[in-house]
Amino acid sequence: MTLVDVQKSTLDLGPARALSCRECGHQIPLAAEFACAECFGPLEVAYDFGTVTRADIEAGPQSIWRYRGLLPVPSDVSSHPNTDPGMTRLVKADRLAAALGVKSLWVKDDTGNPTHSFKDRVVAVALAAARKLGFSVLACPSTGNLANAVAAAAARAGWDSVVLIPSSLERAKILTTAVYDGALIAVDGNYDDVNRLATELAAEHEDWAFVNVNVRPYYAEGSKTLGYEVAEQLGWRLPQQIVVPIASGSQLTKVDKAFRELGELGLVEASPYRVFGAQATGCSPVAAAFKAGQDVITPVKPDTIARSLAIGAPADGPYVLDSVRRTGGAIEDVTDAEVVEGIRLLARTEGIFAETAGGVTVATAKKLIETGQLDPEAETVLLITGDGLKTLDAVQDHIGPRATIPPSAAAVREVLNRG
Ligand SMILES: *Cc1c(COP(=O)(O)O)cnc(C)c1O
Ligand SMILES: [Zn+2]
Repeated sequence: MTLVDVQKSTLDLGPARALSCRECGHQIPLAAEFACAECFGPLEVAYDFGTVTRADIEAGPQSIWRYRGLLPVPSDVSSHPNTDPGMTRLVKADRLAAALGVKSLWVKDDTGNPTHSFKDRVVAVALAAARKLGFSVLACPSTGNLANAVAAAAARAGWDSVVLIPSSLERAKILTTAVYDGALIAVDGNYDDVNRLATELAAEHEDWAFVNVNVRPYYAEGSKTLGYEVAEQLGWRLPQQIVVPIASGSQLTKVDKAFRELGELGLVEASPYRVFGAQATGCSPVAAAFKAGQDVITPVKPDTIARSLAIGAPADGPYVLDSVRRTGGAIEDVTDAEVVEGIRLLARTEGIFAETAGGVTVATAKKLIETGQLDPEAETVLLITGDGLKTLDAVQDHIGPRATIPPSAAAVREVLNRG
């Protein structure tokens, strides 16, 4: 992409050249801006990619920084302290495939990131960009996983952090943030209330980088690395179908963007792929709009155990609809009972313990197959974005030991014979 109307920025953010409005195309130099001054549309990073080869990427570090030539980060990004997430396993999920009745299935296991969710990817990119943009405090409103990732990345970088969470958040996600010893503040309200508060604070504090507010254009690009990794780990090709959980919807649109970029840059053959979205029924505004054939998202009040996806007014919802419709995918939603069943199915078949968002993805894939929306003959990837240890409360009433017995072999035999 050549950007003729914008002066080349003096900021070294790698191939990033400008911020471009998704709605009207208006461009501004790279800065800590997130909304278009002309039309209030969301700003997105625009690039001028040089030559990027598979060999360059393969010679890079075993982290998202191997894709630095495709991200808004400085070329020396790996020399600054960061959490260096990414290059998580892509697992061939044959037993889950058999259970679901599909031919070829992969699980991208993002529980393996430093704070056990995909949020480490977006936060690492936000931190790298924020450092160049002159910030000194890392902040966020969060539904949990982002809180973990921001607090940990700030600790590692030696930055202060300010993390705002709804007070109803799972205990595990509170403790796994608090341990990094930044300023963790619980707010009486839901995520959308906390998000509004963050937007207000971002305007007041010039040195606070709210990763998903005032540096959101950079942060959002971090999700592309999920798409890049899936393609590289498949041997530099695109899967035919991918199922992605939706909170704000950013991740889904960026996985789509990553697949398109890889095709355009000649790093993979530009083969057709379909993007599917997954939501919990208790917070499914994007699925509802998709099913109703609408272009606008009607906000909802979330009520689901899948709290990491509980964004009632998803900022990128309309762009999710674009991606899914353009690629010929679909969006489905599943009940909390199905979410728990999804978590258990993945654990039982593949030995992977996912958080509720993973349960949403697995259960949605099952529903998409059963309703004939997902092709069982086509190669499919499921994005498992967070670790089950963070949402134990979701499963605690459903699983446990088969029995409590005295320490005797006869008692063990008796329990096992019961089946
Ligand atoms: C945040 C989150 C997502 C989705 O994020 P988007 O806001 O849609 O980009 C998915 N899974 C988990 C576990 C998350 O924490
Ligand atoms: Zn605009």
